[in-house]
Amino acid sequence: MFSHNRVCRVLIVCFTFTAVACATAPVKPKTAFSGTRALAYTRRTVAFGVRPAGSAAIGKLRAWIVSELKPLGAEVSLDSFTARTPAGPVSMANIVAKFPGNGKAAVVVTGHYDTKPIPMIQFVGANDAGSSAGFLLELARVIAHTKHQDDVVLVWFDGEEAVGQWSDTDSLYGSRHLQTKWAADGTLSRVKALINVDMIGDKDLDIVNDMNSSQSLRELMLQTADDLGYGKYFLRTGAGIDDDHIPFVSAGTNALDIIDFDYGPNNSYWHTEKDTMDKLSAGSLQVIGDVVVKMLQKLDG
Ligand SMILES: [Zn+2]
Repeated sequence: MFSHNRVCRVLIVCFTFTAVACATAPVKPKTAFSGTRALAYTRRTVAFGVRPAGSAAIGKLRAWIVSELKPLGAEVSLDSFTARTPAGPVSMANIVAKFPGNGKAAVVVTGHYDTKPIPMIQFVGANDAGSSAGFLLELARVIAHTKHQDDVVLVWFDGEEAVGQWSDTDSLYGSRHLQTKWAADGTLSRVKALINVDMIGDKDLDIVNDMNSSQSLRELMLQTADDLGYGKYFLRTGAGIDDDHIPFVSAGTNALDIIDFDYGPNNSYWHTEKDTMDKLSAGSLQVIGDVVVKMLQKLDG
């Protein structure tokens, strides 16, 4: 079960020492997801620069993410492999952080941390995919301070982006690799839900109702958003999205994609040099953080 026992302790300290501050601003427990912190993690991710799969920059980013996860008590491992791409073999590695529960069922939250290789432009991918990489780091901090019965596994996928033109064989390298590995070692049979996030930092947030995702998880997402007063950020009309959840959907896993695929006028910030930090907001990351944390609470146990 997710627990918020720390709230009481925080409030007592608060009333003792900072009563004035308490009267004006509600104190959030340590277990609360912070959109501000997620945005700061995103900014640090983007500062690594252009970071396509196989680059020196993504290697440095990977080392930093791992260094942030270790103090949280996560069991961190790298799922390393060589992808065959149209540009030749490319070394890739998914980052897997497991927060153990009772070892029975597992809930997985995923997102990618590579940027699309785009010749001639300086594509830093603040939203795609700085936002998912930063979001998952803040979620890791929350999970580390939260009791849960299920194992919670966070995954940063490498190689989501196509090297050339998007196709079944040139895209989703990391998620296809991990799905195959988890099917073989039995992990997949323990996964009760997988939630993938992508492009979730847009100031003008509107989340797709992805018809390729599991119906029950879509209903859970929309109901949770409505309960939290965030319904206006979630579109009701359906669309079909091809993203890192698809290899798992195809394997029969209960999986959901949370993505805002309407980024700037006519999606003009997507995969262009306009995808920069000034297009993002802490508020949007807060909405997704609150919804995902509440969904994890509902799914747990
Ligand atoms: Zn992309």
